[in-house]
Amino acid sequence: MKRVIKDFGGRAVFAFRLDTLLLRNTALVVAFHRVQETTADADGLTVDVATFERYGRFFRDHFRVTPLRVLVDKLERGLGVDRELAITFDDGYRDNFEQAAPVLERLGLPATFFVVTDWMGTDVVPWWDRQQGVRQPWMTWEQVRTLRQKGFGIGAHTRTHADLGRVADSDAKEEILGSRLELEDRLGTAVELFAYPYGAPNNLLERNRELIKDAGFRCCCSCFGGLNGRGSDPFQLRRVAVSSWFGSPHRFGFDVALRRTSAA
Ligand SMILES: [Zn+2]
Repeated sequence: MKRVIKDFGGRAVFAFRLDTLLLRNTALVVAFHRVQETTADADGLTVDVATFERYGRFFRDHFRVTPLRVLVDKLERGLGVDRELAITFDDGYRDNFEQAAPVLERLGLPATFFVVTDWMGTDVVPWWDRQQGVRQPWMTWEQVRTLRQKGFGIGAHTRTHADLGRVADSDAKEEILGSRLELEDRLGTAVELFAYPYGAPNNLLERNRELIKDAGFRCCCSCFGGLNGRGSDPFQLRRVAVSSWFGSPHRFGFDVALRRTSAA
């Protein structure tokens, strides 16, 4: 029932262009994890390709889809934002390259991929996949480089997906600066975007946020929801994770737009 109301509400909001009012002066950063042909082993982290394409079209029709580095640049300069939306991916799953990137290219949408540097090209199984009994391949470094060459953004997500809210100080620097240096070495270009693993408020110590600045990054993305606006600190960038839980782009949009009004 709730889903039906949200779907109807979402369609109404976007059909009557109420979103232009509800989302005025905001910038939305969305985070995906896995995009697979089917979601047989469905969890909150996976959307199927057809759903992903619906999201892409929805974003293209209702927002100004912008590369994250361009959004960061605007925030740094104190410029206004209005319905900018940046698409991001966390962790570096191979399906990002094989399934998501072709859809993004077809729709002409920019995106940024945050990768766990020690895991690219390996068969490491993270604890959350082990718990589900699944093994999902990572991108190879060649695939990461190809994404970069195609014009997509590549950002750092630590070396080993460390919880920067708990890790020892000496390890934090290695995770943060180390991931940047490795990416720059592998890609041969500057890497300035950072998203911290797990993304909740307690997954990042304030002193580690300083380390992220000192390492030369220009932003730090969380992942606990919320919108950004003019004057938002790029090192406190809010992101909304898109999960299969939303069911449809309109329900997602409805949720985001309503949260905006309740927060205003
Ligand atoms: Zn992650």
